Amino acid sequence: MSLDPKDWKAFKAKAHAHLDTLLDHVEGIADGPVWQPVPAEVATRLNEPPPLAGQGLDAVLDEFARSILPYGTGNPHPRFFGWVHGAGTPSGILAEAAAAALNSNCGGRDHAAILVEKTVVSWFCRIFGLGPTSGGLLVSGTSTANLLAVAIARNGKIGASARAKGNSGIPLVGYTSTEGHSCLNKAFELLGLGGDSLRRIPVDDSFRIRNDALEAAISADLNNGLVPFIVAATAGTVNSGAFDDLRAVASLCKAHDLWFHVDGAFGSLSALSPSLRFLTDGIDRADSIAFDMHKWLHVPYDAGCILVRDLALQRAAFGGRPDYLLTGRALAGGDLWPADLGLELSRGFRALKVWFAVKEFGFDALGEAIAENCRLALLFAAKAARHPILQVMAPVSLNIVCCRLVPPSLPPERWDQFNADVVAALQEKGVAAPSTCRIDDKLCIRVCIVNHRTTERDMDILLDELVKLAERV
Ligand SMILES: *Cc1c(COP(=O)(O)O)cnc(C)c1O
Repeated sequence: MSLDPKDWKAFKAKAHAHLDTLLDHVEGIADGPVWQPVPAEVATRLNEPPPLAGQGLDAVLDEFARSILPYGTGNPHPRFFGWVHGAGTPSGILAEAAAAALNSNCGGRDHAAILVEKTVVSWFCRIFGLGPTSGGLLVSGTSTANLLAVAIARNGKIGASARAKGNSGIPLVGYTSTEGHSCLNKAFELLGLGGDSLRRIPVDDSFRIRNDALEAAISADLNNGLVPFIVAATAGTVNSGAFDDLRAVASLCKAHDLWFHVDGAFGSLSALSPSLRFLTDGIDRADSIAFDMHKWLHVPYDAGCILVRDLALQRAAFGGRPDYLLTGRALAGGDLWPADLGLELSRGFRALKVWFAVKEFGFDALGEAIAENCRLALLFAAKAARHPILQVMAPVSLNIVCCRLVPPSLPPERWDQFNADVVAALQEKGVAAPSTCRIDDKLCIRVCIVNHRTTERDMDILLDELVKLAERV
């Protein structure tokens, strides 16, 4: 039974109208609230029993427009300042539709999508200066990319027996800073290394890993008979956008024969901007880099990437296929398949939306959008610092301002709760959506700008709202 439309002409008319609905939504995004809660009756409607009988496309499109489209996370909106979420682009919609039309399985074989992914990966290897033996793989995001990187580093340290024999009781330990991302712990847990084997090294006043403390920890572990194998430096921490000193970490790794991994989820892409590139100095010495296209490149979710200096090591960690998947002639051709480089066999055409975005805008314009976000962050921090009721809690090294309202009418022990309430109130009003974080154990309002639509006016609106709320108590 074919699931294709019986009347293609009628279907196309609906499809075109649907596309208009989507584009209208993005075009008018700034006019609506940043976020609004899903009303109870909508939540009830969505929680329906399995539809055994089809309801037809008209009903589905209608329900989508009424019950789902208005209740997104809000990240396309210019005053979404929460976490690190990319904004998307209108042409991302077209790229996703194009990928669905092809419906390619990008685990391997011989077709255009594989070539596109190879090309896209090679662009980023060049941007980061990884050299001729490098390569990589598109994955769901930096969490997965970090997991693959730790696995490749682990196998590299243990050697060829790692895949058959596991960790063989070798007491491996790795390092990241106290500001390193939580997904690195999950990687250590999943690989059977144990989360405690990931040492959390203290940071300096600028939230960069302390190289003296890192060196001391490595020495102490070596003296105790443990086997250090990886340092995961961060290029753009999630709390404050801080960059570890990549050159110093690279040298330490070289001295101790450790894998030098960079978690550059969003910050590494500052390499695209001439004015920010210095932040990533030393990234070209990395053994592996994890980063996202769905954050600061505005590619629709999800798209992340792992790059490895020596692609042979990635293939050694994940290569090998059963007979039915062996490389053959014609469609079964192609030498290196993406499935040889990671966990997934069936995988979508993530590379197409990246290819669309980079070719449409060019790396230069994408870098300019990143630099503009950082300019707005500095400007906001400077304006915030002028209000006695606001404290800027961390140096602004990138696109994130961590600040805190300190209304004198409230005792300091109530400031944490007050700031949390202000963030929730702004989200509920739909005016702006910052998030919270803790710095020096103080709850902060975290204003993170990852949006090519954000302007100075949006920052002023946020500042006015914050001051108004604080002055009202
Ligand atoms: C977002 C982020 C991650 C996790 O990446 P996902 O794409 O959400 O899986 C890891 N590290 C840093 C520094 C991040 O900002």
